[in-house]
Amino acid sequence: MARPPTTTALVADVPVDTRHWIGGHRVASAATFTDHSPIDGAPLAEIARGGASEAAAAVGAAAAAFPDWAATPRAERARVLHAVADGVDKRREDLALVETHDNGALLRSHRRGVLPRVAHNFRFFADRLLELEHAEFDTRGHTNRVSWDPAGPCALITPWNAPLMLATWKIAPALAAGNTVVLKPAEWSPLTASLLADIAAGAGLPPGVLNVLQGYGAEAGDALVSHPGVRRISFTGSVATARHVAAAAAAHLTPVSLELGGKSPLLVFADADLDLAADLAVEQYDNAGQVCLAATRLLVQSAVADAFLRRFTERAARLRQGDPREEATDIGPTIHRRQLERIDGFVRRALDAGARAVIGGGPHPGLGGLYYRPTLLTDVAQDAEIVQEEVFGPVLTLQTFDTEDEAVALANGTRFGLAATVATGDRERARRVADRLVAGTVWTNCFFVRDLRAPFGGSRRSGIGREGGTWSFDFYCDLKNTVTAPEGWTDHG
Ligand code: ADP
Repeated sequence: MARPPTTTALVADVPVDTRHWIGGHRVASAATFTDHSPIDGAPLAEIARGGASEAAAAVGAAAAAFPDWAATPRAERARVLHAVADGVDKRREDLALVETHDNGALLRSHRRGVLPRVAHNFRFFADRLLELEHAEFDTRGHTNRVSWDPAGPCALITPWNAPLMLATWKIAPALAAGNTVVLKPAEWSPLTASLLADIAAGAGLPPGVLNVLQGYGAEAGDALVSHPGVRRISFTGSVATARHVAAAAAAHLTPVSLELGGKSPLLVFADADLDLAADLAVEQYDNAGQVCLAATRLLVQSAVADAFLRRFTERAARLRQGDPREEATDIGPTIHRRQLERIDGFVRRALDAGARAVIGGGPHPGLGGLYYRPTLLTDVAQDAEIVQEEVFGPVLTLQTFDTEDEAVALANGTRFGLAATVATGDRERARRVADRLVAGTVWTNCFFVRDLRAPFGGSRRSGIGREGGTWSFDFYCDLKNTVTAPEGWTDHG
């Protein structure tokens, strides 16, 4: 007789339930899939492989829980979200360990950077909810009152590069707004979503308000975004998948927010602090380059190209690549063999087309498995695939420019528009150039400074819509204007 699949995996000694979380219950699927660790390729867990019936059950649970949660006073919703944040803080170490084993990003970043921000996502949107103002204005004695009505069940689809960070960046405002949620985490990093479900239940979030649907994108994900009961879809992932999601959303006219990829530039002007510029450039290898915001195109003014490159290569040589659990490691593995092969394909084709690898240019020979060497390619043309397409790995290109106009033209010369970074010592230039860049976020002499009050999203192929601050509530709410006549008003004359 076949053994029933186990429903709990032990990951770094942390028990993780491998089933869905639907309506406050753990729900198994007949089929499972194996989740592997990118650190050493070892199997971590057998995860429930959801499909149409589990997606329907999750949306049903979210729909059933919606009226009560939507009617829960704002202050109470905010209190529960703060309790979820407390729960995240209490389990920070477990979450950090499981996330690192599951997606291979650095344990030290999870501990110090990511997990505090995960808790902050809940606290921020809980507090922001309480500050949301109902706009009121007058039309010939009639009052207009704009209210933020919750929209209904939300489908949230997240990628594997920052699983808990991106899930909670969507969950927190969706729940704060009074919606209920079905989260479909990426199949390559499904584990921390399950822990979050435990934490939310422990914090008193009512059953059905947050549901976690596990499974493959083409199965569980597709069934979820195609479900007519879903009232919002927020998706972070690749452009190719976004097309499917947007088409599914179109079938029911479900409002959709798409946060997609990038091919962001780092512009280094001759008047920049070149040490800072080189630091910023090397920072782009964080998370093995698997960051949508990464400035993967270094655009350097010709006069300082050699000086910049010297500083860059010195720093890159000091990067330590290896086990992401080690405190000393700077660059861990890529997420999956398919991803490594994809990255290497881009690099091979670029080299074949005449690019030169100043550093890197292939997988790490010593570490085996999924580690790709930090790579910098020069001698690349603006229309080359390596300059135009998102690699999502530790691969940067370097191009030079002479004038500011040329820099802006190169920077804007892809179909993406997610972010841009400008290194310059001239604040006027910084402002002037930022004004001309097509990007959702522009950083000057810094990188990755993110404030939850700011709008976040991309232009062109980098996405549709903005989330963050009040913009998240704009997306997750149905805004309503109620117009009331003055006392004693008669409309006939
Ligand atoms: P990547 O190519 O970087 O792995 P994807 O965009 O394919 O990124 O994946 C991001 C998320 O989208 C994952 O949770 C994945 O399961 C999900 N997904 C993939 N295909 C679909 C689909 N057809 N419908 C809905 N979600 C999908």
